[in-house]
Amino acid sequence: MNRRKFLKTAGAGAAVTALAAPNVWAKPKSYRWKMVTTWPPGLPFYQVGNGSAEGLAKRIEEMSGGRIKIRVYAAKELVPAFGTFDAVSKGTVEMGHGVAYYWAGKTFAAQYFGTIPFGMNPQGANAWYYEGGGIQLWEEVYKPFGLVPMPCGSTGIQMTGWFNKEINSVNDLKGLKMRIPGLAGKVLATMGVNVILLPGGEIFPALERGVIDAAEWVGPYQDRRLGLYQAAKFYYHSGWHEPSTTSELIVSKKAWDSLDKDLQEIIRGAAAEANVRAISWADANNAEALDDMIKNHKVKLKLLPKDVIEKLRVKTGEVLEQANKDPLSRKVYTSYSRFQANWSKWADISEATYHKYIR
Ligand code: CA
Repeated sequence: MNRRKFLKTAGAGAAVTALAAPNVWAKPKSYRWKMVTTWPPGLPFYQVGNGSAEGLAKRIEEMSGGRIKIRVYAAKELVPAFGTFDAVSKGTVEMGHGVAYYWAGKTFAAQYFGTIPFGMNPQGANAWYYEGGGIQLWEEVYKPFGLVPMPCGSTGIQMTGWFNKEINSVNDLKGLKMRIPGLAGKVLATMGVNVILLPGGEIFPALERGVIDAAEWVGPYQDRRLGLYQAAKFYYHSGWHEPSTTSELIVSKKAWDSLDKDLQEIIRGAAAEANVRAISWADANNAEALDDMIKNHKVKLKLLPKDVIEKLRVKTGEVLEQANKDPLSRKVYTSYSRFQANWSKWADISEATYHKYIR
């Protein structure tokens, strides 16, 4: 039934008045936003593909029926990689995509929303974010910066990284120049490592030219793509330093508040979807990449010696105890570690036992 015919047959004055009200026929408000990221252009998982920054922007557009359109800029296309936080905080752009531990210099507590050395795997981290109050704490930490944060991806357990020599003991770490971000960098610094933070795009040239001796990035697929196997041959596991690295979506609070409630929920839903898609992508692609580098590029896969891991565990405990000087960091750390202690009991019974004895 077309409108004119309906109005004619509806007849009653009240119905006509309601239908003629301007709001009923108003075109929904639409938004043209920009998202900056900390990632090199074209990088699968982070910048392009399912669960990435561009993947997330595409899903928000699809889910909102085109009411929100987001143009995504890789690192340096609009702002430098580590300018992402400020660009969104100042409202230069509406959205940013990165990892929270990059912003430790802004607010120390940010690190807990990226990953914690010897912390929880993606299942545990997600349990804390969604069901253990993690997201609310994250919002509290970012509130002074005018940012609304949310998880939107996880790499899964990362690789220890690339080394130009074997690590047989704690002493072999002394004097190494290593690219590694976050709390893990602080832990290694206590063991004599010279820690350097570089964005992804700058790791390969630094490792190849000997500016650094070692570097961690993500996992086999991403590391192969950066060509790190051409610059160092010893590839260590497992990821004590990043057992679940969560990608973050940050939205300018001002831009967020300008949205209708349904669009806010679409963004939250799309970010949660990206969180699932991202780790699914990582789990589906890492095995082949690792196999390829070992078979075809002479990469030596090594497990960190047990005594090195134990030393790292002790030092991590010390660094975490000392690091939480401000009340907010202490609050987040307490929440995370209490949740982990409880979650670990169940994970030991379920996941760990399954992987060790059954699979
Ligand atoms: Ca990493």
